[in-house]
Amino acid sequence: MIKIKSLEEIELMRESALIVSKTLGMLAREVKPGVTTLRLDKLAEEFIRDHGAYPGFLGMYDFPNSLCMSPNEQVVHGIPNNKPLKDGDVISIDCGSYKNDFYGDHAYTFEVGEVAEETKKLLQVTKESLYEGIKQFKKGNRIGDIGYAIQHHAESNGYGVVRELVGHGIGRVMHEDPQVANYGKRGTGKKFKDGMVIAIEPMINMGTHKIHQLPDGWTILTQDRLPSAHFEHDVALVDGKPELLSTFKYIYEALGIESDEEDGLRKIPLVL
Ligand code: MG
Ligand code: MG
Repeated sequence: MIKIKSLEEIELMRESALIVSKTLGMLAREVKPGVTTLRLDKLAEEFIRDHGAYPGFLGMYDFPNSLCMSPNEQVVHGIPNNKPLKDGDVISIDCGSYKNDFYGDHAYTFEVGEVAEETKKLLQVTKESLYEGIKQFKKGNRIGDIGYAIQHHAESNGYGVVRELVGHGIGRVMHEDPQVANYGKRGTGKKFKDGMVIAIEPMINMGTHKIHQLPDGWTILTQDRLPSAHFEHDVALVDGKPELLSTFKYIYEALGIESDEEDGLRKIPLVL
């Protein structure tokens, strides 16, 4: 069942989402060759607790850490470890927070040092596909409109769209109804209503959409071991329009790059 949120609840969710946004902004300054994903995980856990929240992923379904850290061919759900990142890697960082009874959950794929042009393009197109999806989260549309938009953008660039893992409603529970697939048919599925809050999160592979899971029971890899990217935002439907609860602006500030959120979401009120 889809749980509709009041405007007051959406304000609380914005707080939870912003803690994740700021955590990712802090991490953006730390992602560099030589750092381990376990070190980044510790920094994130401290940061989240210092902001009066609890790491949303820690202990959830028995996940051992605060961040899902998925380098290169890992799609999602990678477990932090002591292996240093190296120049040319990409690292998808997915972060959750829990505060005031509500969860925040979003993700960004970072470049480590100097990354190959074709990998940069995968990241760019995946991020664009996130915004294409968000634009469809509006009055009159249905779940399938988001999936269609993401799939169309990714596949028209020659990439594979992961099928087995999807976005989701979010609220007092991290994973609520509805499931928000990154593929689909226009005009199908549940209709959007004001007060819905969803996490939209395309997982896009450079090659095949097919995936494989490691025996650790968590880590998802691309079957062909080509790189994968993952970007996620928490979005509320307010007055028939999508409103971002999370933002990448802290990441852009840290990296000294101009924000593309305004361009991707010209008509969406950004929370800055
Ligand atoms: Mg996530
Ligand atoms: Mg999520």
